[in-house]
Amino acid sequence: MIHISQKLYVRVALAIALVAIIVSLFASGLSYYFGLETRQKNSYLLAEQLSNTVEKIATTAAQKNDRELATEIVNGLAINPSIKSVRLSNNQGLEVISGDSPGHSEEISKKLYHPRIANEQVGVLQIYLDGKFIQQQTKNATRKEIFIWLSLSLLLAFSVSVLVHRRLTKPIQKLIDNFDLIDPHSPTTMRMLPYKGKDEISKLVIGINALMHELHHSFNIERDLRMQTQTLEQQFRLIFEQASAGICLLDDKDNITTFNPAFASYFMTQDSNELSTLHFPTLLANTDKLQQLLREIRNKPKVAQVALDVECKVGRKQKWMHCLFAKVTDQRAQQRDTLSPIIEVILYDVTERAERELQTRFEADHDLLTHLLNRRAGEKKLNKMLFYSIKNQQPFVLMMIDLDKFKPINDTYGHEAGDIVLKKLAKRIVKMFSDEDDICIRWGGDEFVVAFHVHQANSEDIKEKAEKLLARLQQPIQIQPDLSCAVGASIGLVLAPEHGRVLHELLVNADNTMYKVKDQGRGHLEFYSPTH
Ligand code: GH3
Ligand code: MG
Repeated sequence: MIHISQKLYVRVALAIALVAIIVSLFASGLSYYFGLETRQKNSYLLAEQLSNTVEKIATTAAQKNDRELATEIVNGLAINPSIKSVRLSNNQGLEVISGDSPGHSEEISKKLYHPRIANEQVGVLQIYLDGKFIQQQTKNATRKEIFIWLSLSLLLAFSVSVLVHRRLTKPIQKLIDNFDLIDPHSPTTMRMLPYKGKDEISKLVIGINALMHELHHSFNIERDLRMQTQTLEQQFRLIFEQASAGICLLDDKDNITTFNPAFASYFMTQDSNELSTLHFPTLLANTDKLQQLLREIRNKPKVAQVALDVECKVGRKQKWMHCLFAKVTDQRAQQRDTLSPIIEVILYDVTERAERELQTRFEADHDLLTHLLNRRAGEKKLNKMLFYSIKNQQPFVLMMIDLDKFKPINDTYGHEAGDIVLKKLAKRIVKMFSDEDDICIRWGGDEFVVAFHVHQANSEDIKEKAEKLLARLQQPIQIQPDLSCAVGASIGLVLAPEHGRVLHELLVNADNTMYKVKDQGRGHLEFYSPTH
């Protein structure tokens, strides 16, 4: 395959040369065609002029049958190179021929008439043109023309290619060389391209320079922005990684997608690789409640964030987490699709505080020695129970219990032994009355109040239950490994709301009944009887 140079000026020169050759050949073809026709016509006219010139003398030679003169005439005519042969003949048998055999050559025939006798032909002069000679002449002339055309064309092609090379290719090559020095990744290499002049290339260079200036400017702005973004990113990363609060992101299925080291440290028992795919509500072991809450945060546009203390189990430990759930709304992402928003969770381990709060709340409502409800909290509960009882006509029994001869235990074994007795007896009470609705109160000193619902106000059944409690209370109490004691109890029973529709009345009645038992010798129980 012929390899043609890629250089512009060579290609231009070759194109011009090719066009010139085609034009030259075509023009030469036309020139040959029309030249041949003209030469043939001219030769014909010349032959006619010659025959006219020699007509008179040829007529004389034919009329006088003068062979010598005839020969002289035909030889004279045949000298002309475009004439192939000449023939002069008359009707007296004279025939003089000069030149080659005419063949199929074009003929100019001149009839020779007697000069005085009208219309009397004395002979004929025939001139045959040399077609091959005329053709050869035309060919030679055409060849010269082709040569001149081609020479001019090649000169033109060469001149144009030199011009193109100097004015176009060279400056463009210079531009390309300068461009090659530019590295798009290194803005410092973006130098202005040098070019002098006012032609189109200089305008192009001015345009490119303006573009590069803009690019350079944009690069600088972009680099500054990138550095700012990197710094910001680093700062945010530090905040995220070094935050004391656990932070995690939840996808639309409540699975953890991202979390920080503090978050991982809260759930150390979990494998940190596993954490990244875990279902958050399951992790906190509050699945249903949390799922419901997360659904609400996602679906309700007005709910942007919710704070909640969640009790959860981490390993074997019971922990309290203060969780802040916030919807993360990415405006761009929202426009692109309608997926549920991501939820950010910020957690603090508030176990200590929660335990303290629980303890404080417990201490506010409970007796610290026996862990039973204290009087204040107990009264509140009893009031509620009475209200419920009246409203739903569901009776309940209230027992006022006072230990018998408890003081001597203190006096004999010490106050601490008395405490142990109180604790153990409280346990026995709670063990018997452990239903959700049952109320066990340390009323004060060695006094206890117990309340429990009954289906029917059957005093025998109630008494039976109270007797059972009394029997348990009377059982020996181990104070020390080798020391035990026993106390009795006096119990006054009332039925609510039958024996009092307000708490105070009920309590007074129970108290009075209990004191009646004390008066009667202690150690048994009695139902309140309104007749007393
Ligand atoms: P009674 O049979 O008449 O009920 O007489 P008692 O000995 O049980 O004495 P009483 O009920 O009148 O008084 C209760 C005593 O319980 C008074 C007090 O010394 C004692 N006591 C009160 N609170 C506590 C306590 O928290 N711990 C101890 N160890 N003793 C207490
Ligand atoms: Mg007592």
